[in-house]
Amino acid sequence: MNRQQEFVLRTIEERDVRFVRLWFTDVVGALKSVALAPAEVEGAFEEGLGFDGSSIEGLARVSESDMLLQPDPSTFQILPWRGETEPTSRMFCDILTPDGEPSLADPRNVLRRTLAKAAEMGFTCYTHPEIEFYLLESDQLGPDGSPVPADQGGYFDHVPGGVAQDFRRTVVNMLESVGISVEFSHHEGGPGQNEIDLRYADALQTADNIMTFRTVVKEVAIQQNGYATFMPKPFSAHPGSGMHTHFSLFEGDSNAFHEPGAEYQLSKTARHFMAGLLRHATEFTAVTNQFVNSYKRLWGGGEAPSYLSWGHNNRSALVRVPLYKPGKGTSARVEYRGIDSATNPYLSYAVLLGAGLKGIEEEYELPAAAEDDISALTSAERRALGHAPLPASLHDAVNAMEESELMAEILGEQVFEYFLRNKRQEWNEYRLEVTPYELHRNLGIL
Ligand code: GLU
Ligand code: MG
Ligand code: MG
Repeated sequence: MNRQQEFVLRTIEERDVRFVRLWFTDVVGALKSVALAPAEVEGAFEEGLGFDGSSIEGLARVSESDMLLQPDPSTFQILPWRGETEPTSRMFCDILTPDGEPSLADPRNVLRRTLAKAAEMGFTCYTHPEIEFYLLESDQLGPDGSPVPADQGGYFDHVPGGVAQDFRRTVVNMLESVGISVEFSHHEGGPGQNEIDLRYADALQTADNIMTFRTVVKEVAIQQNGYATFMPKPFSAHPGSGMHTHFSLFEGDSNAFHEPGAEYQLSKTARHFMAGLLRHATEFTAVTNQFVNSYKRLWGGGEAPSYLSWGHNNRSALVRVPLYKPGKGTSARVEYRGIDSATNPYLSYAVLLGAGLKGIEEEYELPAAAEDDISALTSAERRALGHAPLPASLHDAVNAMEESELMAEILGEQVFEYFLRNKRQEWNEYRLEVTPYELHRNLGIL
């Protein structure tokens, strides 16, 4: 038993914790949970907790279904939304095979492997997500067949007496009480749309934080008689929900992306990293934007990127270099704007970081920055400037991913194969659907 494990056992006793939930994430990013009696926790630390991996999306084949959950004591927290008396707590888990090896199919392990590669190259990776989502009145559709937003606010609006303020305040307080620091929260562009930005943390911790964040947001919405969704594009007429993520690589205490005096104060490492993101974006978009609906966001305007490009102060760019004050070199970072709020954060951060590291390793050349609004250019102008389109649909994205050796290497064969199979199936289901759009277009009703 190590010190962290002992601390968990002591806290469980002192706080009279009634349930200990073990959390893990399946390949498509759904949170899974099993509640343990406090007396079982010591055993789970020592031997792991057995479960049937083949019943969980993407984890194991039926013939090798026995898996173990190994709780990570550094993630122990009491869950504030479950009340003060007889509290419930949780720990994230790593997934092990019966012989105690990390499971290659565990999304947390996929990210751990990429972080280990970054560490071999001398880097620690920090991430800072801007998470957008919609707050709706309920989980029911309105009379016109669309979801009903909780308010009519817009970007940065302060809606007097509005539900969203109380909602964000409760969410932020709860996040702080489980050790997740929030930097900003505000109303976003769409009615009912909100954004909450988490303070930067190492990429694995950020991915855990995102899973907790989604749970907190959904729980608080239900408590306040509403409903929250991370769906990439719930309304055709309003912006989608992105999860722009800022990346930085540190070598010890110094930010490897920062170089005073260089163009945009960007180091060679940063330029190669960005070139890696751009060169491999087509291959990893199926992961960062994993649903049929994700492509309605990417191609539906609303400040979501649609073309491979980078820019300094350009919000139509896929990769953006945010401004920072001279002298604040530690803040140097690169923002990836393609990723949406419904992604599996472990897999997405693994492919984004992995692509950036590949760029550094191979010293990819960064193309010229985009100065204009890329979506306003003609296609001939875009072609001349080398701004190729992102995949236009899940179908295109899956086809591009299938050809990618780098994605197979980062995700590991098992997750790679499973992911492709699962997403092909989703596309095949979708293409058979007759949608309201078609009925309207071809039958003239609605
Ligand atoms: N909602 C936009 C998106 O889908 C982003 C708006 C912003 O720049 O924050 O990416
Ligand atoms: Mg935003
Ligand atoms: Mg942003």
